[in-house]
Amino acid sequence: MIVEDLTEEFLEGTLDKMSAEELIKWAFENFGEKAAIGTSFQLSGSVIIDIASKAVDDFRIFTVDTCRLHPETEEAISAAEDRYGVPVERFKPDAGRVKEMVERFGEYLFFDDKAKQEYCCSIRKVEPNTAALETLSVWITGLRRDQSKARESAPKSEILSEWDHKILKLSPLIDWTAQDVWKYVRDNDVPYNTLFDKGYDSVGCIICSTPLNSGEAPRSGRWRWFNGSDDKKECGIHIPKKGEDK
Ligand code: SF4
Repeated sequence: MIVEDLTEEFLEGTLDKMSAEELIKWAFENFGEKAAIGTSFQLSGSVIIDIASKAVDDFRIFTVDTCRLHPETEEAISAAEDRYGVPVERFKPDAGRVKEMVERFGEYLFFDDKAKQEYCCSIRKVEPNTAALETLSVWITGLRRDQSKARESAPKSEILSEWDHKILKLSPLIDWTAQDVWKYVRDNDVPYNTLFDKGYDSVGCIICSTPLNSGEAPRSGRWRWFNGSDDKKECGIHIPKKGEDK
């Protein structure tokens, strides 16, 4: 199967109606090594890995290693590798690009303004993620609609054309709630990032992700110095399709 053969009707009429388990199974059975779970070890990603381990014999996991990960995230990566026996492929930023950025703007440029935060995210996250996508036809993500206002209308399946080949992006837990995810984690004894026991609702780089304060909206702990602005709290990995504003 190739992504170019998939129609919008098939996505809407078949893929979008599948359960999380059915969708993950379909992806790996039809695309094999050309499908992978991309995760930064949020809870949703850990759940998807567990579902995949029960649905298929072989599956791929990749993560973007920004070189600024929390120690707890490193522990979660090791715990997943130990539990499932699947190596987590790491895609890192280009060392020369990071050096150039830090020499020009300093290591903590993301505090300065939104443009510099996006620049840092593009070097440390988006470019390595793009390198991962170059190896893929199907990108399985942990996106959920309840994670933020910007994600409220995110689709369960979509075909992305931003790169030199088409990518089918699947978000099997798109309509799960945070409570659904926690229930799955507890019921299935899923190894998870212990930052979620320390007040975090979303995990990214050190400094840029912090625990939530009582009553704060989801993802308020990400780049919290931009709270109160119209910031969508996105790093750019989950960019909208061209011409759309999701
Ligand atoms: S989350 Fe922060 S440190 Fe990480 S890539 Fe983005 S701006 Fe840079």
